[in-house]
Amino acid sequence: MMYESTRGKYRGMLSAETIKMGIAPDGGLFVPENIMKITQDMMEQLVGLNYRERAVAVLTQYLTDYSSEEIEECTGKAYTESKFGNPEIAPVRKLNDCISVLELWHGPTCAFKDMALQLMPHLLVKAVKKTGENKEIVILVATSGDTGKAALEGYKDVNGTRIIVFYPFKGVSEIQKLQMITQEGKNVYPIGVEGNFDDAQSGVKAIFTDAELNNTMEQKGYSFSSANSINWGRLVPQIVYYFSAYADMVKQGSISIGDKINIVVPTGNFGNILAAFYAMRMGLPVNRLICASNDNNVLTEFINTGIYNRNREFRKTISPSMDILISSNLERLLYEVTGHDSKRICKWMEELKEKGIYEVDGITREKVREIFWGAYSTEEETLAAIRKVYQEFGYVVDTHTAVGMDVYFKYVAETGDSGTKTVIASTASPFKFNESVSRAILGDERTKGKGEFELLKMLSDECGIPIPAGLKDLDKKEVRHTTVCSKEDMKAQVERILGI
Ligand SMILES: *Cc1c(COP(=O)(O)O)cnc(C)c1O
Repeated sequence: MMYESTRGKYRGMLSAETIKMGIAPDGGLFVPENIMKITQDMMEQLVGLNYRERAVAVLTQYLTDYSSEEIEECTGKAYTESKFGNPEIAPVRKLNDCISVLELWHGPTCAFKDMALQLMPHLLVKAVKKTGENKEIVILVATSGDTGKAALEGYKDVNGTRIIVFYPFKGVSEIQKLQMITQEGKNVYPIGVEGNFDDAQSGVKAIFTDAELNNTMEQKGYSFSSANSINWGRLVPQIVYYFSAYADMVKQGSISIGDKINIVVPTGNFGNILAAFYAMRMGLPVNRLICASNDNNVLTEFINTGIYNRNREFRKTISPSMDILISSNLERLLYEVTGHDSKRICKWMEELKEKGIYEVDGITREKVREIFWGAYSTEEETLAAIRKVYQEFGYVVDTHTAVGMDVYFKYVAETGDSGTKTVIASTASPFKFNESVSRAILGDERTKGKGEFELLKMLSDECGIPIPAGLKDLDKKEVRHTTVCSKEDMKAQVERILGI
């Protein structure tokens, strides 16, 4: 399997090269040249496998320049019960006859990013060897809160790598910030940016494509890579869990093989839902992919009108990991639905960069609408969904998952499709966003004036679920990283860290 850039200048690349490079030098994103198919026979086999084995089955389809022994070694290190606190890794919880929840947050940092970022460093180390690379790999990350911690945790003390993470200094939750500034490891550099996620992401993209800086890096023995979902190595592990969820739903008797399901994904950078799209293209029986947004509802508008318009106020919400106005991975979707038309992609991305807005043609718009259904939740609706799900099912969801729940209820109300079995991707542990979750469940009176860690305990007592290991005692850990910079200063920070 070979990979090519969505902007058309690079093709015939090995997966190891794309994982090492992260983003294509023409500014595009790497995608597979064609899409592998999973047959009904293979689907049946998946049902009897555990998560690690399912991962090997899917990953070997795409990472064809890795041997299956290599992939088994990587998945064996990544998906262990000790790291995920759960033998199933990504368990499916059935809430009622129709709704199942795919819990993607059992990893060490309590958000779904661990599903990819526990695996990716192992894939990268192998990629470096395979491609004969002798430079130190510098992983650059922009994070809206969860990728940063998951990447720091995945790459800490990995030989031959350093990791620099830019997070919006005032745009992440208290717990997310604490997780990053207390990070241990010799090769880790979390830095706060005075700006929002889009500023951090644009800054990182500019550094990646800065020819002069890349030249200097080359001479000094460094090479950049990315741990964001612009890297194919981040996306491909995410395809696995949609197949795994389907197999579990078959096993639990919710569906029979071949039945179509809906998949609901709380969406920000469009990475997670894009993985579901690839799963669908590979043959996973899907009725609709439901794209759930918060008040930053660019994608809702895009799906409904074909117009992508980032010229709007950036809203800080209680689901901060979805506070994004430039959803990078949409570029990959458009490349796929236009039949790999890089000319059109270049034009739209240029318009987005220059004017902040583009409109796709009618055929592309209709193709997107056939596959996706999109809506968004306000802050009040998100809190109400947390309460409703707790009251109806005795199940606690975090703010991001609550957006997914609320949008699913809207989907049913609007389309009348209450029969299709539906899986909702649960992207974070409720404890990670416990301030809003405890407010929704315990009420304003009981939570007023309480500190973040007091609330953790209260929520745990109320729901009878233990506080995850990764979050407990976070307030007692030593703060190791205090650097904050302006968005103009990001490149200088990288140069300072690397001594160039
Ligand atoms: C990153 C994240 C999202 C958004 O995922 P994308 O792949 O960026 O669309 C949603 N919820 C949580 C908790 C996240 O960490």
